[in-house]
Amino acid sequence: MSYALIVAEVRRGIFEERNLDSIGICAQLGKETAMLLPEGQYSFNEKMVDSIVKVKAGEEVFLNPLNMAAIIGKIAETRGKPDFIVFTHSSSGTEAAAYTAGIFGFPVITDVSGYDKERGVFRKSYYSDKLFGEFKTIGESAAVLTVRSGSFKEFAAEKSAAPNEVSVEDVPVSDSRTFVEYVEEEKTDIDITKADFLLSVGRGVGNKDEIPAYEELAGIMKAVISGSRPVIDKMWLPKARQVGTSGKTVKPKVYLAMGISGAFQHIAGMKDADCIIAINKDAEAPIFQYAHFGVVADMHKVRDALKGILKG
Ligand SMILES: Cc1cc2nc3c(=O)[nH]c(=O)nc-3n(C[C@H](O)[C@H](O)[C@H](O)COP(=O)(O)OP(=O)(O)OC[C@H]3O[C@@H](n4cnc5c(N)ncnc54)[C@H](O)[C@@H]3O)c2cc1C
Repeated sequence: MSYALIVAEVRRGIFEERNLDSIGICAQLGKETAMLLPEGQYSFNEKMVDSIVKVKAGEEVFLNPLNMAAIIGKIAETRGKPDFIVFTHSSSGTEAAAYTAGIFGFPVITDVSGYDKERGVFRKSYYSDKLFGEFKTIGESAAVLTVRSGSFKEFAAEKSAAPNEVSVEDVPVSDSRTFVEYVEEEKTDIDITKADFLLSVGRGVGNKDEIPAYEELAGIMKAVISGSRPVIDKMWLPKARQVGTSGKTVKPKVYLAMGISGAFQHIAGMKDADCIIAINKDAEAPIFQYAHFGVVADMHKVRDALKGILKG
């Protein structure tokens, strides 16, 4: 039977929203969809897939890529080889995808962000969406995909029938690596995911000495300061203030992005803000494609002007 196998991502019993992108790409591929889940009950619309394959093992078993490859091999034996094996483009998804492709000799396309149905071509980006590559798989082999978060969830739709559920028992578990525990990041006083107004600074801020002036502006505007990854990596702001795929996903009423170019890893974390205002000296910066309001200007001049107006 021709089908796509989705390896769902579950963290601490929660069905990750990025799984909807895996479901969405399968809808685009026009494939019957089986979703592989660890045992447990999950809150999501099960009618979006044709079948659910429950593995008699906890989610920690899914965190070892050798286990994933073994489980997929077992499913292929009983159900037939899938046409596609779909993972999320996350740290665990890419790891398991690489192992699965390597062990079985399947082709892999990572970080898929688009699919051209007519040409059967997958798209992935280079240099923060400045250049795209198109890929096609050749031959009869199953293909492994990792799917970029936010790229396909709009295509995830309810099917007419409820899914059938099967379970996989006697799962082969590798002892080469053991999951120890999840470690929470250190709690700080401010939770940027709860803020209504975020003033976010990017690498364009220039250097650490400029940060206090932006904190002051944030204070005047009753905003909370956050940043893009380079600002956090340089330790100009704490890690808890990072917006993006490896930071926090935020949905404030207003997101004021100053000196941020708009790389997809950043956009994925803030694109659902009610109002996005971007200030950047480069009129071609990708952030302007997502902004409701944009100002092409030096961010320091805008900062000083705003301070003058709001203080005065
Ligand atoms: C696995 C992975 C995970 C990642 N996770 C994240 C993440 O969670 N969050 C994140 O943000 N990034 C993340 N990144 C990094 C991401 O790819 C980009 O490198 C990063 O978002 C760029 O940050 P930036 O926009 O601040 O810097 P840049 O891309 O360097 O952009 C700086 C911008 O400032 C503008 N500028 C410069 N000076 C001024 C000025 N005086 N006035 C106005 N504008 C000015 C420039 O025109 C430019 O557009 C991740 C990358 C990887 C590979």
